Amino acid sequence: MTKKIKLITFDLDDTLWDNMPTITRAEIDTRKWIEDRVGKIEWGSFEDFLHLREELILEDESIKWDISKLRKEIFRRKINHVEPEKFKNDLVNNAFNIFIKKRHEVILFDGVETAIKELSKKYQLGILTNGNADIFKFDIGKYFNFSISCLEAKDSKPNRSHFDKAKEITKINFNEMLHIGDHQINDIFGAFNLGIETLWFNNNNEKWNQNFAKPLEFSDWNNLVPILRNNYE
Ligand SMILES: [Mg+2]
Repeated sequence: MTKKIKLITFDLDDTLWDNMPTITRAEIDTRKWIEDRVGKIEWGSFEDFLHLREELILEDESIKWDISKLRKEIFRRKINHVEPEKFKNDLVNNAFNIFIKKRHEVILFDGVETAIKELSKKYQLGILTNGNADIFKFDIGKYFNFSISCLEAKDSKPNRSHFDKAKEITKINFNEMLHIGDHQINDIFGAFNLGIETLWFNNNNEKWNQNFAKPLEFSDWNNLVPILRNNYE
């Protein structure tokens, strides 16, 4: 039986674009910008970052879902020695603005724009992201009805908050939604759990390792519209 789909939601990072090169470049450039002003900084390892994150969450729980605040607080910790306070605060804010600007310097996967434009004629479209990129900063933003980040959801996928919010905004039930994303747990498991139809973007030839049936998958955005046409009304 083919399901009638009214709303398609999309993950952003690693679904509409390859995120690693963008984030890495944003991180490197922002760190350099800070060091040019205050001298060499010990940025620490990824484990240090996770530790620091836990510490910050104990002080302020909203850091769990407000990843922009998290990033600012981490910059602040790293330049704690800098004085006066006003100079430090300005540095933190300016560094974050640079980071967030560079974080939006993405290259959409081939076929994204054409597919999104085409789908917007037939479906409501939304974004459900655990990140802090904003679809409305891009030209294709005009094809989307809404976007929910972890800040709005006050939680992260695979938890249900993003999906609940999508339902609340559109008044469309889970059984008429389709969620598309790259992450087996955050996207596919999260949506599957609520009875939402799923489509897995797997452009890295990843193996399916969940204990429920693999949904339909695609690796090339140029195939998305035909896949939907052939499988859903
Ligand atoms: Mg993703």
